[in-house]
Amino acid sequence: MRQLIIIGSGPAGYTAAIYAARANLQPLVVASSVEAGGELMNTTEVENFPGFPEAIQGPELMAKLQEQAEKFGAEVVYDDVVELDVDGPVKTVKLGSGKVEEASAVIFATGSAYRKIGIEGEERLSGRGVSWCATCDGFFFREKTIAVVGGGDSAMEEATFLTRFASKVYVIHRRDSLRASKIMQERAFNNDKIEFVWNSEVIDILGEDAVNGVVLRNTLDGTTSELPLDGVFVAIGNDPRTHLVHNKLQLTMEGTIQVDGRSSRTSSEGVFAAGDVVDPTYRQAVTAAASGTVAALDAEHFLAALEEHAPVEAAAV
Ligand SMILES: Cc1cc2nc3c(=O)[nH]c(=O)nc-3n(C[C@H](O)[C@H](O)[C@H](O)COP(=O)(O)OP(=O)(O)OC[C@H]3O[C@@H](n4cnc5c(N)ncnc54)[C@H](O)[C@@H]3O)c2cc1C
Repeated sequence: MRQLIIIGSGPAGYTAAIYAARANLQPLVVASSVEAGGELMNTTEVENFPGFPEAIQGPELMAKLQEQAEKFGAEVVYDDVVELDVDGPVKTVKLGSGKVEEASAVIFATGSAYRKIGIEGEERLSGRGVSWCATCDGFFFREKTIAVVGGGDSAMEEATFLTRFASKVYVIHRRDSLRASKIMQERAFNNDKIEFVWNSEVIDILGEDAVNGVVLRNTLDGTTSELPLDGVFVAIGNDPRTHLVHNKLQLTMEGTIQVDGRSSRTSSEGVFAAGDVVDPTYRQAVTAAASGTVAALDAEHFLAALEEHAPVEAAAV
């Protein structure tokens, strides 16, 4: 049986793997069969990860984190966890290949997924004008005309934040009123750079190599129109990837995995969680990496305590 299995290969999973491997825990990282490397594989320049003043491409950063984890002895498999049994002292992890792995501790670092509109151009122009994260990408839109899609608190927050860079920010919303809290609405309404486009949904994002506009459909009369733009920020929600642990671990109101205070300890002993799957607020590569560190240290202490309390084998006579 292994000591530690880490599920997920984003900044949280690989950082946990670096710490755990350096503590001689020889962790197995289940990296996913198609999405190894996590969310940063979908982006181009990362300018805010400390240590890279000239910026680094998302996939290159993730390759470096993987290399660092493997250098210290982490084992990486490109497979998916399809079933998880976290009750009792032996945690069982079933992989897509059918193989079953067992460990005394598990770190769950499966991230979260930004909700997509699900239209042509959205995936193709991701990192080329389509973004889900104003904190990450706002800086690239200085003096540009952009749109935020959504009507909740996060859409208002993103729109208001983006006016620091953009010359004009449209907020495109399907209805004629917002879901956002009063205070967030007021802030957006009072901002001269923000213009609301009501009763409209984006049905197409235009551009070959970079966004140059969107096609809108009026939700009341069905008419369509084009809006020229340099960028589109999609702010229609975020879903923590917790389907494997529903009814197995306690979740928060926001749908993230519940952890004990500042630790990574979940409601099941020996199971730790890190990164965006526990974080409804910050969701950055560096916060996910820090959270991976916490999980590795918590797992290390847990495993050390297990060893200390293990029954001593009767000496052979
Ligand atoms: C387009 C884009 C651009 C971004 N740009 C920046 C930026 O510039 N700077 C910044 O700080 N942040 C940026 N972010 C946010 C950042 O990517 C995330 O905060 C960070 O990746 C979260 O790390 P994580 O390890 O928690 O999760 P993730 O990176 O989401 O990784 C989770 C991993 O778990 C795997 N996984 C899930 N389920 C399973 C399973 N059942 N079995 C095996 N593996 C599984 C996934 O495949 C994935 O590899 C960006 C996000 C996006 C979407």
